[in-house]
Amino acid sequence: MLGLMQSQQLLISTLIEFAERHHGEGEIVSRRVEGDIHRYTYKEVAVRSRQVANALDGMKLQFSDRVATLAWNGYRHLELYFGVSGTGRVLHTLNPRLHPDQISWIVNHAEDSVLCFDMSFLPIVKAVHGRCPTIKHYVAMCDADKLPVDSGIPGLISYEAWIGAQSSEYKWPSFDENSASSMCYTSGTTGNPKAALYSHRSTMLHALAGALPDALSMSARDTVLPVVPMFHVNAWGLPYSAAMTGAKLVFPGPAMDGKSIFELIEGEKVSFAAGVPTVWQMMLGHMQAGGLRFSTLKRTVIGGSACPPAMITAFNDLYGVEVLHAWGMTEMSPLGTVCTLKNKHLTMSPQEKMLVRLKQGRGVFGVDMKIVDGDGKELPWDGKSYGDLLVKGPWIISAYFKGEGGSPLVDGWFPTGDVATIDAEGYMQITDRSKDVIKSGGEWISSIDVENIAMAHPAVAMAACIGMKHPKWDERPIIAVVKKPGSDVSRDELIAFYEGKTAKWQIPDDVVFVDAIPLGGTGKMQKTKLRELLKDYKLPDA
Ligand code: ADP
Repeated sequence: MLGLMQSQQLLISTLIEFAERHHGEGEIVSRRVEGDIHRYTYKEVAVRSRQVANALDGMKLQFSDRVATLAWNGYRHLELYFGVSGTGRVLHTLNPRLHPDQISWIVNHAEDSVLCFDMSFLPIVKAVHGRCPTIKHYVAMCDADKLPVDSGIPGLISYEAWIGAQSSEYKWPSFDENSASSMCYTSGTTGNPKAALYSHRSTMLHALAGALPDALSMSARDTVLPVVPMFHVNAWGLPYSAAMTGAKLVFPGPAMDGKSIFELIEGEKVSFAAGVPTVWQMMLGHMQAGGLRFSTLKRTVIGGSACPPAMITAFNDLYGVEVLHAWGMTEMSPLGTVCTLKNKHLTMSPQEKMLVRLKQGRGVFGVDMKIVDGDGKELPWDGKSYGDLLVKGPWIISAYFKGEGGSPLVDGWFPTGDVATIDAEGYMQITDRSKDVIKSGGEWISSIDVENIAMAHPAVAMAACIGMKHPKWDERPIIAVVKKPGSDVSRDELIAFYEGKTAKWQIPDDVVFVDAIPLGGTGKMQKTKLRELLKDYKLPDA
C-alpha cells in the first residue's frame, strides 16, 4: 500500500519561491568586483532568477544543457544558481584558479553551451574562447555600460542587458527530481578532472540536512558569510540552505584577504562564516596584528583540509567563536561530517573538549560511513583502529559524469581516499589522505598530526609534512615550514618543540624553511608540487 501524501518533486526552484514568499525582505549583501557593496533582498533574487530563466529559454537551450560560470561569490552568481537549475539546465561552476588549459579541457568535456563570467576573468575567457567550440553564448556579469568594446569575444553581451530585456514572470517547470541540477569537477590531483553531477533531489536533501542544528545550524536569525567559493562544490550548499531558512547572505566577491573579510564580518554583523583553514589563517593574522575583536561572529565552519588545533584555540579562547570542524568532498556535495558536541561533552575539561573538536565529527543524517583494512574487512569504531574510509548516501556520487574512471563504488560504497578512525560515539577523525600518509618502518605516521604540532609554534605560519625515502625506514617525515613575518625559529628549536608532544619516532627528521607552500585551486596544500620543489632534498642520514 502506498502512502497518500502529495508527490511533489524536490526541485531547486522551490527554494527561491519559498524565500521570496516567506523571507522576501531577507538581505543579500555582496562585495562586487568593482569594490563597492551591493545589497538587495530575496524578493529581488527571485525576480531576477525568473528573468535569467526567460533569458535562457530565449537562447533555445535544451533541458540539461550546461550553463557554465566563472564567478566569485556574489548576487548575480546566486541568481544563476536558481535561474539555471530551476529551468532544468545544469549549472556548471568552473574554478577560475585553474590553468586556462585545464579550464578549456573541462568546458569541452562538459560541453558547456553558455559561459557567464565576472569581469575579473575576462583574461581567462580571452585565452580559452577560441578552444571552446560548444559555447554559443558569452555573458559578461556586468552592467551594459561596463561591457568592453573590443573584447574579441564573439557576441559578448552584458548580464544586465541580457536579463534586463526579460519578463519577470515565469512559471518554473516541474520535472523529475533526479534530473541533474549542477556539476563540479574535482581538482584532479591524479589524471584528468572528473565531474560530480548533482541532482535536484540530492541538492535539496543535502540543503535540508546541512541546515540542521547539529550540522551547520542555519536559521532566519543568521547572517551567513560563505567565504568558501560558489565555484567549488556549490559553496558547501550554503546558498541553498540559506534560501531554505531565510538566512541573510553576505558574499565577499574577490576580496578574500584578512582585512576585507574581517571588515565584512563586522560591517554586516555576520553570525556564521564558512571557509578553508588558509582563509582563516590570513584573517586571524590580520586580527592579531591589529588587536581586533569580533562583535557578532558566533561560529565558523572550517573544512576542506584539517583545521590545526592552534586555529580552534585562537577562535575559541581568544575570540569566543565556536569552530565546527567539518569534512566532505566534491563527490559528497560535500557534507559528510560536522563536529558538534553532544551533551556529555559539555562538562568535559577544555583539554578533553579540544580532543573531540579536533575530530572531523559525526556523520550528518544521510551519510553512512565505515572504515576497512587492506583486505576490505570492516574495522571497529573504537577511536584507535584506522583504515580506508568509505561512505554512502543520497548525496554521494554513484558515478562520474560520462562514466569517467569506471564505477567508483565498491559494493555500493564510495571510497574517499582518506584514512580515518571512528570512535564509539561515531566521531570520525581523518588520519591522512591515503596518498599522504607516511609509512615508516611498517608503522603509519599521520602527516596531519606532524603539521598540527608545528602550527602550534608561535613562529610558524604554515607547515606541510611529507615523507622522504629512507634506506632503513622506507620513509621518514620532514616538515616544510613558512615562518611568520618578523618571527624566527631554528631547525633545532622546532625539532625540540616536538619533544613530549608525540612519540619519538613520529618526530620529523628535518625542517626545511620555504617562502611559500604551494596551494591548489581550492586553497589546499599541494603536496605533489611541494615534493617536486624538494626533489633534490636528501635526508640528513640517507
Ligand atoms: P579535491 O579532492 O579536489 O582536493 P575536495 O574539495 O573534494 O577536493 O577535497 C576532499 C578531500 O579534502 C577529502 O577527501 C579530505 O582528504 C580533505 N578534507 C576535507 N575536509 C577535511 C577536514 N576537515 N580534515 C581533513 N581533510 C579534509
